[in-house]
Amino acid sequence: MNKPHDIPSTPLSPTAVDSHSVMFITQRPELVMTEGLGSWLVDHNGKRYLDFLQGWAVNCLGHSNPGMIAAMNAQARKLINPSPAFYNEPMIRLSNLLTEQSCFNRVFFANSGAEANEGAIKLARKWGQLHKSGAHEIITFEHSFHGRTLATMSASGKPGWDTMFAPQVPGFLKAELNDLESVKKLIGPKTVAVMVEPVQGEGGVIPTTTAFMEGLRALTQEHKVLLIVDEVQAGCGRTGKLFAYQHYNIKPDIMTLGKGIGGGVPLAALLATESVSCFVPGDQGGTYNGNALMTAVGISVIEQLLAPGFLDEVVRKGELLSRELQTLATEFNLEGERGKGLLRALMLGKDVGPKLVEMARDQGPEGLLINSPRPNLLRFMPSLAVTDAEIAQMCGMLRGLLQQVH
Ligand SMILES: *Cc1c(COP(=O)(O)O)cnc(C)c1O
Repeated sequence: MNKPHDIPSTPLSPTAVDSHSVMFITQRPELVMTEGLGSWLVDHNGKRYLDFLQGWAVNCLGHSNPGMIAAMNAQARKLINPSPAFYNEPMIRLSNLLTEQSCFNRVFFANSGAEANEGAIKLARKWGQLHKSGAHEIITFEHSFHGRTLATMSASGKPGWDTMFAPQVPGFLKAELNDLESVKKLIGPKTVAVMVEPVQGEGGVIPTTTAFMEGLRALTQEHKVLLIVDEVQAGCGRTGKLFAYQHYNIKPDIMTLGKGIGGGVPLAALLATESVSCFVPGDQGGTYNGNALMTAVGISVIEQLLAPGFLDEVVRKGELLSRELQTLATEFNLEGERGKGLLRALMLGKDVGPKLVEMARDQGPEGLLINSPRPNLLRFMPSLAVTDAEIAQMCGMLRGLLQQVH
């Protein structure tokens, strides 16, 4: 592989990995990933993997994107973190870029999607104190995912999460996605906001319908309730528009971004319209928030997404991937495919997802990285710069695997 930079790679011994000092929080294969370039990852044995996970839809420009590396290096030489008590140039430039491209007026940078969502929840509750007699309840959705802090776990509709670290943070009511009536039933005097993922990612790549999103905006306006879109996974070009809410004729009050906005580095954002931006000094902050190094990378990412033709290509490649997955579904009598842009799922009709994920990774000579957020489906979230040839190669590899489990 030709790296666009010259980081010396330390050869790791290809023997068993001694990982006992790493806290056990998930089952990991005995592999150490050592290098990445574009749609490819390399492990400590030198085996290559076609990466359709990209750090969970995080590396929107693939691995080792030259523009991001240049931005990171240039900023690191200049200024890394002057402290959140001061403005810095990249923080201001990225805020301007995001507000120019959206219906929002103010940006608060965070370090993870969960932290951005915590900020959104706090902002909505503060707004409720000021403008809605202390209304604080937020309606979220079954099977939604908003993060792993206590409040965002409570906001999430993942089965089992209500008891995992009980007691929950109170004030989150769950409605059914794409069912406006179920939201209507839960709206009351204590409701301050509705929080929704335009495409439920972890829930299994379930897009919201236009009628639902536009109905939700009308309903929330009618009841003077805020609309929060969690675009941590669906934002930043993933669905073929810079922001997923732009597929609908709506203007939300609050939006959160994460994952793609940093292209792989820890960066997230909370955006709000002027009338909702009601934090006062002391309400919100954080040591690393808006640091120059990460926001400089964010500028490079957003500028590359906005380059002429880039998002049109995401749309075209999303359609290509969709057609290819439909072909596989027909060929193997599966239940079909769904998604938006380059966030897609193949519905298997059987709980063979986790097995396919393992087989895909472990096959030789080259592996394939995909995931299975629900056992009956596979999810695909490649680099937005993925090539047609890589999409074809991925589908070819998948065909071989489906033949094996068939
Ligand atoms: C991943 C994700 C989050 C959490 O982001 P972290 O950076 O892991 O905290 C929140 N919301 C959605 C929709 C996500 O996909």
